[in-house]
Amino acid sequence: MSIVKKRKKTRQITIGSVKVGGGAPIAVQSMTNTYTQDVDATVSQIRHLTMAGCEIIRVAVPDMEAAHAIKKIKAGIDIPLIADIHFDHRLAIAAAECGADALRINPGNIGAESRVLKVVQCAKEHGISIRIGVNSGSLEKQIEQSMGNGPKAMAESARRNVELLQSMDFNDIKLSVKASDVSRSVEACRLVSAQTDIPLHVGVTEAGGVIAGITKSALGIGMLLAEGIGDTIRVSLTRDPVEEVRTAWEILRALGIRKRGVEIISCPTCGRCRIDLFDIAEKIEKALLKFKVPVKIAIMGCVVNGPGEAKEADIGIAGGDGMGILFKKGKLVRKVPQDRLMDVLLEEVKNFEKESGGN
Ligand code: SF4
Repeated sequence: MSIVKKRKKTRQITIGSVKVGGGAPIAVQSMTNTYTQDVDATVSQIRHLTMAGCEIIRVAVPDMEAAHAIKKIKAGIDIPLIADIHFDHRLAIAAAECGADALRINPGNIGAESRVLKVVQCAKEHGISIRIGVNSGSLEKQIEQSMGNGPKAMAESARRNVELLQSMDFNDIKLSVKASDVSRSVEACRLVSAQTDIPLHVGVTEAGGVIAGITKSALGIGMLLAEGIGDTIRVSLTRDPVEEVRTAWEILRALGIRKRGVEIISCPTCGRCRIDLFDIAEKIEKALLKFKVPVKIAIMGCVVNGPGEAKEADIGIAGGDGMGILFKKGKLVRKVPQDRLMDVLLEEVKNFEKESGGN
């Protein structure tokens, strides 16, 4: 049984090699937090993000040096890159010329229509798409003065900006309407989704640190995806962006939309637990980050209840006093010395991946 409604049909665009909208899989996006000018650091972070499941990456382009760095960054990565531009249309043009696969602009802060037109003409020449990114905190003054900065104002800004680009005969558009709170983000996306078939990028912006950010993102993105709204997603956290990608995949998995890599079932522990389960679970999670084949593993505190409580896991370990056990689908495979539990589990997961055709 699925709680997710049929996805709203949007038109399809492409960002580099990734199809977005029109029934394509919902793509996981993130944004680097390195200095874009620092090519080595940026490439290294994008590679880590790619391994964690990031499918489209956005980089900030605050100046010409950053725009020119895109050429070298692109040579070192395997996923499409979106250049994030504010205020200066010349940066967007330079980013496109240096190989960006898409541009993210907020036409509200690019200035005169003639500048937006230059960006659009450049995007057309290079065959790349543009994301119109509307944020509640940076709406056009005229809209904010007459409508405030709530969902209706955000949707109106989106409508006007889409119209502007379409009036320039440009349709390779993706749209996002974000706020830092769940209610406005969700409602604005609902309004926009009802008024257009342009693919939507959804997320809650500036959502906060780990606990606040994951909670707000899971609620906001989760509600929209469950309603069939959203073509790409980004979790925004004040943390290593790898955590954003991991969270995004957990949201997709929890809703049964897409699966990737290891799903961990682990118990909260109780007075029966005799091992440092928190530490083991954290180490295993990190060690298995790059695994792509979907596999459900269990890390349970005790042999008494662990295997039964995690029957659905493909592979599991449960702690004991000195000796733990390895189990599969709830059935005991063998006893394992406590200090070998983690290694044994990792070996079994690697075998599982090989048997499933992974690498
Ligand atoms: Fe407690 Fe064992 Fe259940 Fe973990 S698996 S919560 S240790 S009873």
